[in-house]
This record gives sequence, C-alpha cells and structure tokens, in this order.
Amino acid sequence: MACTGYNAEGNNPAGGSAHHRRALPVARRKTKMSHTTHNVDHAEISKFEELAARWWDPHSEFKPLHDINPLRLDYIDAAAALSGKNVLDVGCGGGILSESMVHRGARVLGIDMGEMPLRVAELHTLESGVEVAYRRVSPEALAAERPESFDIVTCMEMLEHVPDPSSVVRACAHLVRPDGFVVFSTLNRNLKSYLLAVIGAEYLLGMLPKGTHDYARFIRPSELDRWVRAAGMRTSDITGMTYNPLNGSYHRTKKDVDVNYLVTCRPQGAA
Ligand code: SAH
Repeated sequence: MACTGYNAEGNNPAGGSAHHRRALPVARRKTKMSHTTHNVDHAEISKFEELAARWWDPHSEFKPLHDINPLRLDYIDAAAALSGKNVLDVGCGGGILSESMVHRGARVLGIDMGEMPLRVAELHTLESGVEVAYRRVSPEALAAERPESFDIVTCMEMLEHVPDPSSVVRACAHLVRPDGFVVFSTLNRNLKSYLLAVIGAEYLLGMLPKGTHDYARFIRPSELDRWVRAAGMRTSDITGMTYNPLNGSYHRTKKDVDVNYLVTCRPQGAA
C-alpha cells in the first residue's frame, strides 16, 4: 500500500505508457520485480508496515477492511460455525478479522510477515481486551511445524500480495484438519475489477492509497480453484462482495464475483 503509486520499476500502474495500459487486460502474473524471499514480497509487506498505525481507524486507508468485515465474518460463521473452533488467520494484518472471530467464540492465532501490523494487532488486544495470539511466521513454515492443526483457516485479502499464491493455498491445505474449512478472499482479474478496484478505489474515489493493488496479481476464481484442487481440497462455495459507491455499502451476492470474492474450501474427503 505504498502511497507513491509507483511499482518497483517506477511505473505508475494506472497511468504509464500506452503500451502499459494496453497490456493490462492480458497482464501475466509476476510482472513486478521486487525483492522476494520465501514467498514474501518485501515491497508488498512494506506497504502495510508504513500504514500500520492507522489500521484500527475506520476512516483510514483500512476503511474497506472495516466495512467488509461484518460480511466476511458472517460468511465464515455460516460456513464453518466459529464458536469453539481453533482458527488460524493467515495474513491477519492489524487483526480486524482475528478479533471479530474471537467475539464469535473462536480461539484465534493470527500470523503475518509484517512486523508493524502484528505490533498494532497486539497493542489493540490490550485496548480491546480480546484474546488473540499473534506470531510472525509464514504459512509455509507454520504448515511444516503444525500440520492439520486448525478447524478453520482464513486467508483474506492476502493472496494478491504474495509472489506465489499457490504455495500459500498449499500451506493452508496442510494447516487445516481433514474435516476443516479454509476460507479465502481475494480480487478477481478482469477489466471490471481493474476499473473498480484499481482506478475507482485508488484513483477516483481515493478509498485506498495509489499503488495498493497490483492488477497483474489479481486472481481469477478458476486459477484459485486449480490451486485448491492441486492442494487436495475442493471449492464448496464462491460468493462475491460488491460495493455500491452511491451509498458506500457492501453486499454479499452469489451473482457477482467479478471484483472481490470469498471462497470456501474443504479438504478432499471432508463431509
Ligand atoms: N487479512 C487481513 C489483512 C489484509 S492486508 C484483513 O483482511 O483484514 C494483507 C496482509 O497480508 C498484510 O498484513 C501483509 O503484511 C500480509 N502479507 C503479505 N504477504 C504475506 C506473506 N507472504 N505472509 C504472511 N503475510 C503476508
């Protein structure tokens, strides 16, 4: 979420050359060369590091995460019944979703590779009194350490910031119990999502800092489904989240998964 709006090569993702604009609808993954280790893009992490202090301000750059939180919380609860469950929140950031899942009766471990978001998340638990455990560890490393440990694994608005999202999907499949649930949310990749999530949200409405999202990293449901199946799971539901700019509200709908969408997955063999 670097406020500059420029990617690692110094190109402005919305402006740039005519060539750059023409290339967008067919953009390939991994167009960006930035410093990457162990499936972590440090340029992506630093976007969140810079803004972390404002994570819990509902009027800040994180407003969209606050606004969609009730929708995704209800979605996860309806799919997997949070009460009494052991939940892992992958890429938890400042903990908006993590804390809300505790309110629904879950025990939650939040993991992230960003230092500052985790610090903010921990500080916030002191204020709110909500008990969440947080750790700076990658999902891949935790999967090696604690396989099949969680009833529910959530991974929201994170896959589109990772160099190899299929590796995160695989890690989530290893982390969940054989009868558990994995819930992802991410951004679809098409002209509409480019216009709404990048041009609309970042450039016209100013809802997000310019450069928050790299269109080439958006993920089509078919791509996510392929990774889910390759990881030994199946997709049991896909639901869209739509934004109405006229009244600033978000809605869940099965009919429109063009921009932001939620996916529930089950390990193969789960009932
Ligand atoms: N899931 C949270 C935060 C989304 S912002 C929510 O929806 O409310 C994306 C988060 O992913 C940031 O906190 C960022 O630090 C984290 N992230 C990005 N790449 C990561 C990686 N490879 N491993 C773990 N966390 C990562």
